[in-house]
Amino acid sequence: RSASKPMVCVDAVTMSFGDFVAVENVDLTVADGEFLTIVGPTGCGKSTILNAVAGLLKPASGTVSIDGAPVRGVRNDIGYLFQQDALLPWKTALENVELGPLFKGMGAAERRERATTWLAKVGLKGFEDRYPHQLSGGQRKRVQMAQALISGPKVILMDEPFSALDIHTRHLMQNELLRLWQEERRAVVMITHDLEEAIALGDRVVVLAAGPRSRVIDSFPVALERPRDVAEIKLDQRF
Ligand code: ADP
Ligand code: MG
Repeated sequence: RSASKPMVCVDAVTMSFGDFVAVENVDLTVADGEFLTIVGPTGCGKSTILNAVAGLLKPASGTVSIDGAPVRGVRNDIGYLFQQDALLPWKTALENVELGPLFKGMGAAERRERATTWLAKVGLKGFEDRYPHQLSGGQRKRVQMAQALISGPKVILMDEPFSALDIHTRHLMQNELLRLWQEERRAVVMITHDLEEAIALGDRVVVLAAGPRSRVIDSFPVALERPRDVAEIKLDQRF
């Protein structure tokens, strides 16, 4: 897989907010079907880089391309699980998951069926009619995961999806994510500030320095076969 041409290519990207340089000269590539994790301390620019990949922020310099084409704005072939809870509070879990297919013009019956299927895939069968405030933090992240995956995106971006969860829920959801990813094998870029999580989930790990002017300080492949259960794998078994 590593020999195939990159699905995501971040080339010499610098991201600024006014005079403030958040990240400088960052290079990243993600092959199709590869699970890349980006790890770094809070404020180093992880979300900023993901927003550049998604076309939500424009680099001050450098280029981002997806599947060989430069990113010039928001695209509909990316699934993005935002760091902040982005669910619409006045819509049910099912209606929130239906939004992507709705914007793509899918008919009501079909998108309802797809959304129901995806809620079941993320472990939320029976929760279709709950509103976000009636769900736990983990359940809301599951809804966000279904939102990110339902449209079969070329690239899946996930910004600290498990950070706010208790360790038990986190392990459960890490394993569920790996299982879903193994079914479809899309290119994934997942952010975390937890090195152990980065190594447990990633095919490859990119480490960012503390900001400002953060840059890539390490990039390494994770050698062993992917574990079947994250919680059972010790760090030192991964090398
Ligand atoms: P991380 O996701 O790694 O915690 P961020 O990408 O959110 O970091 O932020 C990187 C740096 O850029 C931080 O210093 C943050 O304060 C700054 N920053 C992020 N977004 C903005 C913005 N919209 N305006 C100004 N500064 C920002
Ligand atoms: Mg962030």
